[in-house]
Amino acid sequence: MYILAETLRRLGLMHVYGLVGIPVTEAAYAMQKVGINYYGFRFEQQAGMAAATHGYLTKQPGVLLTVSSLGMLNGLTATANATVNCYPMIQISGASDPDMVDMDMGTYEQLDQLNTARPLVKAAFRCSHAKDIPRALARAYRVAVSGRPGGVYIDMTTPALAEIMDAADVEKLFYTPVDVASPVAPNKEAVARAADILSSAKRPALLLGKGAAYAQVDDKIKTLVDTYRIPYLAMSMAKGLMPDAGELSALSCRSTIMEKADVVVVVGARINWMLSFGRGKWNPDVKFIQLEVEPSEIDRNVPVAAPVVGDMGLALDMLLDEMKGRSMSADPAWLASLQADTKTKNAKFAARLADAARLSPMNHWSALSVVKPVLEANPDVILVNEGANTLDDTRDSVDMSLPRHRIDCASWSIMGMGMGSAVGAAVATGKSVVAVEGDSAFGFSGMDFATICRYKLPVTVLVFNNGGIYNGIGVNPSGADAPAPTTLDIDAQYNLIGKAFGADNYRVDNIADLRAALEAAIASKRPCLIDVQLAADAGKESGHIGYLNPTPLIDYTV
Ligand code: ADP
Ligand code: MG
Repeated sequence: MYILAETLRRLGLMHVYGLVGIPVTEAAYAMQKVGINYYGFRFEQQAGMAAATHGYLTKQPGVLLTVSSLGMLNGLTATANATVNCYPMIQISGASDPDMVDMDMGTYEQLDQLNTARPLVKAAFRCSHAKDIPRALARAYRVAVSGRPGGVYIDMTTPALAEIMDAADVEKLFYTPVDVASPVAPNKEAVARAADILSSAKRPALLLGKGAAYAQVDDKIKTLVDTYRIPYLAMSMAKGLMPDAGELSALSCRSTIMEKADVVVVVGARINWMLSFGRGKWNPDVKFIQLEVEPSEIDRNVPVAAPVVGDMGLALDMLLDEMKGRSMSADPAWLASLQADTKTKNAKFAARLADAARLSPMNHWSALSVVKPVLEANPDVILVNEGANTLDDTRDSVDMSLPRHRIDCASWSIMGMGMGSAVGAAVATGKSVVAVEGDSAFGFSGMDFATICRYKLPVTVLVFNNGGIYNGIGVNPSGADAPAPTTLDIDAQYNLIGKAFGADNYRVDNIADLRAALEAAIASKRPCLIDVQLAADAGKESGHIGYLNPTPLIDYTV
């Protein structure tokens, strides 16, 4: 346990998120003893979400510590989610003696954890001996941050944790890994090909993904966009990498860009379901230039005319170099029409919010008519966001102006990342966080609001309470009075959870009170929970992605 703690410290992995018990309790104490910041959670999955968010925001793997069996599995869901989202993290889990597990002896918390984790993570190692711990951690670190980042699992067996070694021998085990995250450059021809296609585009656009935000190459992207006047569009978590309300932002012209752009530079995004796989709505003749670290991503769903495979920073340096002296062939009417479109659409959107502001009870837009200006006046606050309608409507209305200030349910579009991500974001950056949560989404992680309170983090949680999954008007088709599958509790006072753990808390049902509560909460830099009462019929099934549901064959109300 000392070797584990000391290795983490020497690697500079100074933040560990976890939930202790047999056999890792003393390990967490050993970590604290050597100066590591340990954050104890109520649910391993949320500790994992914190570690993942820490990794995304800092490019250093967040560390998750779990106990064996169920604790390991609870945490593994977050490690799998981190791997899918390309966030670097390391899950270290206590594990029963593998000799007993392998012989199926029925030992305490018996589970073949290593093989369970393996298909869901980027790499998995097992430490059966204490002497292996420094090498396992150094390798895990390297794998987590190299190439496409992801989650790494380490099975930390009870025999390894319990081993006694001579201190002098232990000292010889530690080493500093050289060049842990070594960026690899794309090849020159690939970059020249990309520059040829980009400079000859008539209707170019740039699509930013969270890989671009992760890479922390903000200035290079700004130079590319501003020098060559390329309109840009951001995927959800890349919002703010370039300002959403910037002169060249084409955020409100997503469909136009899909239908009409002839060249799209995809910067750290995957052409997956969120982008209709690059087909259908897209201009069939569009040429993609894709800046991407993972070669197997190229041509995944649609042919890529100019793949630029390599680290984002090096790729952008080379592309900017190659573009020097070239002029763009873009049709000036293209940018002008996108800008005119943006103006019209933004005016329509503003009118929609203003109309909703007059509604009582509130719907999502009414609440956002207040949340939007308050958050935009506090650009340094990190926004955590999950839900269905709460996710869609918040993403669409709140303009971000700084990179890596929006954390959401990302590629899998899962629910249950809120409280953990809020902790990870607050700890990793020292900044204030506002989590905008649907009432159902909040339920998945709500108990870890207690963690926010115990560590006195500057986190405000807004629960948009419309009484259900999607909404609160579900009808049980059997006629019995048991709640419908989507029904939660419109009268729940979520703010009282704040009260239980000593946080400031408010229950608001109108925009004036919401504004006052949110402004006070952000200014206080204390934990705060605000129950935002909406109408039960606010919100529709599955929000904007209802089309992903199988076509219904029975009539049901939601
Ligand atoms: P979004 O959901 O915002 O579209 P994705 O997570 O789908 O973003 O895609 C991010 C992409 O960025 C991944 O394919 C990942 O391999 C890539 N990526 C991550 N880090 C880097 C980096 N440092 N350099 C280049 N590409 C990167
Ligand atoms: Mg709801």
